[in-house]
Amino acid sequence: MTSKTLVWFRQDLRIKDNPALSYACEKGAIIPIYIVDNINTDKPLGGASKWWLHHALVSLNQSLNNQLQVFEGNPKEIITSLITRYDIEHITWNRCYQPWQISRDKELKEQLTEANVQVKSFNGSLLWEPWEVLKKDGTPYKIYTPYYRRGCLAKPAPRYPIERPSHIHVISSEENNSISIKDLGLLPNIQWDSTIAKHWTPGEEGAADNLQQFLSAPVNDYKEQRNIPDIEGTSKLSPHLRFGEISPNQIWYAAQHAANNQISDDLDCYLSELGWREFSYYLLYHFPTLPTENFNSKFDHFKWREDKTHLAAWEKGKTGYPIVDAGLRELWQTGYMHNRVRMIVGSFLVKNLRIHWSEGEAWFWDCLLDADLASNTASWQWVAGTGADAAPYFRIFNPVTQGQKFDNEGNYVRQYCPELTKLPPKYIHTPWLAPKDILDYAGVELDNTYPNPIVDLKATRESALAAFSALKQNH
Ligand code: FAD
Repeated sequence: MTSKTLVWFRQDLRIKDNPALSYACEKGAIIPIYIVDNINTDKPLGGASKWWLHHALVSLNQSLNNQLQVFEGNPKEIITSLITRYDIEHITWNRCYQPWQISRDKELKEQLTEANVQVKSFNGSLLWEPWEVLKKDGTPYKIYTPYYRRGCLAKPAPRYPIERPSHIHVISSEENNSISIKDLGLLPNIQWDSTIAKHWTPGEEGAADNLQQFLSAPVNDYKEQRNIPDIEGTSKLSPHLRFGEISPNQIWYAAQHAANNQISDDLDCYLSELGWREFSYYLLYHFPTLPTENFNSKFDHFKWREDKTHLAAWEKGKTGYPIVDAGLRELWQTGYMHNRVRMIVGSFLVKNLRIHWSEGEAWFWDCLLDADLASNTASWQWVAGTGADAAPYFRIFNPVTQGQKFDNEGNYVRQYCPELTKLPPKYIHTPWLAPKDILDYAGVELDNTYPNPIVDLKATRESALAAFSALKQNH
């Protein structure tokens, strides 16, 4: 009798370089499953992520000859019932790192082991396991550069990617309680996703195409070009990585092969961005309150503002600061926002509007296709100055000078704020300073076609700094 292994897909929705899948296929026949776990999670997926997940599952199912079994509910119950039904002795999965996933998996592993089911888990989504990289005194790093350069790069090289299994023998699904992907109800009821769909191809093939496209040229100018939001200077792999349609190992080695293993500044910079992703997971693992508490607890006493009107203007991209508005509209229209602009809109929310970073984190969580608990919360805390190795609170991005520097001609702003299209580069980042004849020519009516700035940059910067120094003095 051939061995039967349950393969539990989670954040590894791919066939290639999937250690859990390869292990199971080597053992014999498999039963591939995916479970939407709405029971144990403390943070259900946002709308954009659900859209991606739907399409990622469709793609994975196709790669498995439509034999992926899909469930919704409590994994403990579903897996226990499948084990009895199929008389299974082995189960395998690739590890996940959100705190609730870790405790759920640990408990499940204990329960299954007691029931004589062999459980085998693998690292399928990180270059280095968080517990493998520690300082000499055995404590975790809190600063990125030593973590990456002295910690990670001094370790043995990451695992080399494995090919797709030569043979995938799936046991045909007998009668069971699995449902169709459509029945998971991941797609929106009202159709807001049509523009998003134009920009992305979820699935393993889409990920491989993005990687090839990026390695064919943009990687060679990555260091400079990655800061310019109106060009395709980055790999756009983040949602694919988020759902595990590609592994960081595949990217790590493909990028080095494409450069014939000559590590240029551009390649080093790109690999170190993958390092930032690792660092985010590392922080989440070692400091599991990262999503909900200030990493630097001094900020628990900071005087944040509650302002629903300003928050709504920010979310809708109607702040009157063109680069901020363009970023938030890019997010809404495409499910993505350029990294440089994420930093600008984040700084504006947390420092100029002085609204708590968790509000920005929640909006990104709902709207980003790459919404990832580790990267999102670590990055928001970084921007807010409350995090590990954060940009200091007193460093406040000026959205006008940032716009002029990184979107010099205003092409990015014009793409997402079409009402400003006819403004010349001189005023594209400061419409409120444009003379009346230029506004008339451009068809811009302030507070009618485009808002006046909702806050004054200088005044809000000063009050943010004052709040920060009060915090320093009192705590
Ligand atoms: P590339 O420049 O091509 O980089 C390659 C990969 O490296 C990315 O796909 C990503 O996985 C990783 N990476 C790059 N920069 C970072 C970074 N600063 N932190 C962590 N990983 C990084 N990234 C997410 O994946 N999910 C999020 O929810 C998320 N939220 C963010 C929130 C804020 C406020 C900020 C400032 C950044 C956030 N980032 C997040 C990080 C970064 O903006 C995106 O990873 C990047 O823009 C994705 O585009 P790309 O794939 O073209 O990146």
